[in-house]
Amino acid sequence: MALSLLVPILGPPASGKTTLTLALGKDPDRHVFRLREHVPPGVVMATVSSGPRNLGWIDESVVEQAVRAYLESVVGDPLIQTVLMDNYPGTADQVRALLDVVEAVAPRCVVEPVELVLDPKVRRKRAQSRRVCHRCEHDPAADPRMPARPSRVGGWICANCKSLLHTRRGDAPSLFAARSRRHQDTVDDVRAAFDSAGIATNVLNAIVPASAVASLVEPMLIARSNTA
Ligand SMILES: [Zn+2]
Repeated sequence: MALSLLVPILGPPASGKTTLTLALGKDPDRHVFRLREHVPPGVVMATVSSGPRNLGWIDESVVEQAVRAYLESVVGDPLIQTVLMDNYPGTADQVRALLDVVEAVAPRCVVEPVELVLDPKVRRKRAQSRRVCHRCEHDPAADPRMPARPSRVGGWICANCKSLLHTRRGDAPSLFAARSRRHQDTVDDVRAAFDSAGIATNVLNAIVPASAVASLVEPMLIARSNTA
């Protein structure tokens, strides 16, 4: 067994990408790639201190190096069959660079992008209600993103560590709007870049509960990783 399936999970803010990768990533054959975990902490810090306008953008050459190093390490791991990429690639250039690396390190690996779509109003509502935990998630830039579980439904106390939960920094209304605009500005190019490589993007409406989204994607993952 070796890497046979790569699934970029795309979609606007608060469409459920991280929740989906967490649900699907429970399978031990699968690994979830999150860019921030593969760039040096100093780089993540630098993008934050350069101001909110930057929206956490990381230098392109650093990104490509990180993705290449990651995939090289994954193909050397016989236990990993499927990689889920949480919110990556984000630009047409990143799509092309990713496909080049896959071609070089795992030429038989199938790439199967999944794009979540969700009405902006619903996304804003979801963003307002989601919480993160600064104690449970040690983010290099003190900007945790993983969904935290409150001790009571709708509450503000972490069920895991009992400390106070917070909203995500990027969910502040002005940042959320800017992140949504950035997605809107790039998503067609990302899809087109996959298209021109002969790869169709699976578009999924994420209005259904997260568990339903996961059960829609799961059969595709199983079918694709078996045929590869
Ligand atoms: Zn906690």
